[in-house]
Amino acid sequence: MTEVPFSCACGKLNGTLSRATPSGGNHCKCLCDSCRAGAVYCKTPELAEGGLALFLTTPDRITITSGFDQLAPFSFGAKNIIRWQAKCCGVQMFSTPANPKMAMTSISTARLTDPAAIGPVRSRAFVPQPNGKTKHENIPAFIGTVARVLRARFTGRWKETPFFDSVTLEPTVTVTLISKEDRRALLAR
Ligand SMILES: [Zn+2]
Ligand SMILES: [Zn+2]
Repeated sequence: MTEVPFSCACGKLNGTLSRATPSGGNHCKCLCDSCRAGAVYCKTPELAEGGLALFLTTPDRITITSGFDQLAPFSFGAKNIIRWQAKCCGVQMFSTPANPKMAMTSISTARLTDPAAIGPVRSRAFVPQPNGKTKHENIPAFIGTVARVLRARFTGRWKETPFFDSVTLEPTVTVTLISKEDRRALLAR
């Protein structure tokens, strides 16, 4: 089991990612507006240029060893992706769907001490097309992500998460909701 440490930018929040190998998740870049607005909110817009680099895995692979109290999740809507920020230094550490039974977690690859362990970026999501729409590149990589999520669901492994109470299904830290207007303002910057 390959374990790679992760850390927020200031070092208060630390932990390990297990199965940190190219086949243990999907190393992708997401070009969606939500990722970009999140990066501006976290005052790291440069990280979203050309897409926010993420490793998509399941939450049981994330172990937080110190600084859990620094986690400050925010979201652009009650049902939207929850972005887990480290309030000590402001960086985005993780993201999760609002429903913990969809056992998906991203860890920002910039937070890994050894990003080489997960190999190069394999896919891109929400890539703008000339017709104004967006599309995902390397669909099999995303199918792998869905398969991992489903496996975690059916084995009950989705309950092993630092981000949600597996009984109430509520996030373990209160999520700050950001209004549509504020999201628009973030994207206008
Ligand atoms: Zn920090
Ligand atoms: Zn995104």
